[in-house]
Amino acid sequence: MRGHLVELAYLVSVIGFALSLKWMTAVATARRGILAGEIAFGIAIIATLINPAITSTGWFLIIIALALGTLIGIPLGLRVPMTAMPERIALSHAFGALAAGLVGIAHYYLTYHSSNKFETAVLGVEIVLGCLVFTGSLMASGKLHEMLPQRPITFQGQNYFNFVVLGVALVLIIVLTFSPTSTWIVPILVVLGLMFGVLLIIPIGGADMPTVIALLNSYAGLSASALGFVLDNKLLIVAGALDGTSGLVLAIIMCRAMNRSFRNVLFGAFGKLDESTAEAGGEVGNVRSASPDEAAELMKMARSVVIVPGYGMAVAQAQHKVRELADALEKEGVDVRYAIHPVAGRMPGHMNVLLAEANVPYDKLLDMDEINSDFPQVDVVLVLGANDVVNPAARHEKSSPIYGMPILNVDQAQTIMVVKRSMRAGFAGIENELFYNPKTLMVFGDAKQVVSELVIEVSGQRDAISL
Ligand code: NDP
Repeated sequence: MRGHLVELAYLVSVIGFALSLKWMTAVATARRGILAGEIAFGIAIIATLINPAITSTGWFLIIIALALGTLIGIPLGLRVPMTAMPERIALSHAFGALAAGLVGIAHYYLTYHSSNKFETAVLGVEIVLGCLVFTGSLMASGKLHEMLPQRPITFQGQNYFNFVVLGVALVLIIVLTFSPTSTWIVPILVVLGLMFGVLLIIPIGGADMPTVIALLNSYAGLSASALGFVLDNKLLIVAGALDGTSGLVLAIIMCRAMNRSFRNVLFGAFGKLDESTAEAGGEVGNVRSASPDEAAELMKMARSVVIVPGYGMAVAQAQHKVRELADALEKEGVDVRYAIHPVAGRMPGHMNVLLAEANVPYDKLLDMDEINSDFPQVDVVLVLGANDVVNPAARHEKSSPIYGMPILNVDQAQTIMVVKRSMRAGFAGIENELFYNPKTLMVFGDAKQVVSELVIEVSGQRDAISL
């Protein structure tokens, strides 16, 4: 009876996970998606706890583990700033993969006398995947956190060496499959998996880490799914498969939005900073600049304004001020919309999340494909802490690392205002010709500071103060 209840609860969880993924694909339903995922996880945990396979000793240890995990997880979740989310997610993958790897190892040593060939082969793959995602995710997190060098670390014959490590692991898995009692193989598989995780990540530049994390997510899902087959746990099989495929789809979407191939991400170096540009931070060449009050005057006179948020808006946490600015402009009769590039903000969905937090109406957020043809009719574009996603070099500069990446065609608008602190490069480390466009006005300063001043000017608060 209890067994049937557990299976039913697992089924409900799986439906919850699928709905959660479905709802998270649209901004309007994303919160519902998160809630559905949390409820599904809650049901899955409770169902696992009442699973007849768990003994009372197991219960005791699980409750201690749950309490410890909760104690560590809550502050980790609350304290992390949005801009540090990718490295935080990488850490979660590392812990998840470690857990999956350890369960696989424990299961092998408990059952190798009686397990069949299929189970042993799957366990071998699961252990290697769990170990490689563990070290790979730690490396990715370290690179993003700048605790490890961001630049790709390469050596001669690196790809051959990696293939040899992977090849040896595969051969050992085959040997283990036909001789499950060869217990000496598993520690070697663990070491090879841990090594391969490090080797996989060191040649990849820090700039590609968010995409790599999505890929590692996919590997972790595969590992969980493999474990589900071994433990005969349908929930793990389906949840792992959902995790594996969604991670892969996300990595593909990110690669497409940046016009990069997987091969390029895994074997090419992107995001090496153009030192000359970076060092030149603050040095203003032939650019036109404007003060916030001049910018506010132009915006008040406009019929239509499009705000293009980027990573700098997230760093400055300017989203609430942006909403205030839009409200003030709308009061003046200006039509305000937002143009959202799929990879703006160095993390998928970053801009949508921040603007939703500031209660910006969803129908004001337009995707690149929806807004791009409108730019010639837009009076003022306010580029707020965005850089690469509006760089026209992506359209014509074949030698540029962002060549081919679809961009927001803000250079076609009547007036372009760019808010950033200096002339420093963005994520890709390259110059942006948009800043030198005769139609562009640079408004230098921290995004939140500048937008706050724009709000004061547009809403006439400055006049009220001086009266
Ligand atoms: P960029 O990284 O290109 O540029 C951000 C700009 O913000 C910088 O030039 C910086 O200039 C400015 N900035 C930083 N802090 C502030 C601040 N406090 N106030 C004002 N401006 C600030 O950002 P984009 O959003 O345009 O592009 C995202 C990049 O991330 C793309 O290259 C994309 O390919 C990449 N990427 C995105 C992923 C995703 O999933 N979204 C994943 C992986 C990569 P300054 O220092 O002068 O202020």
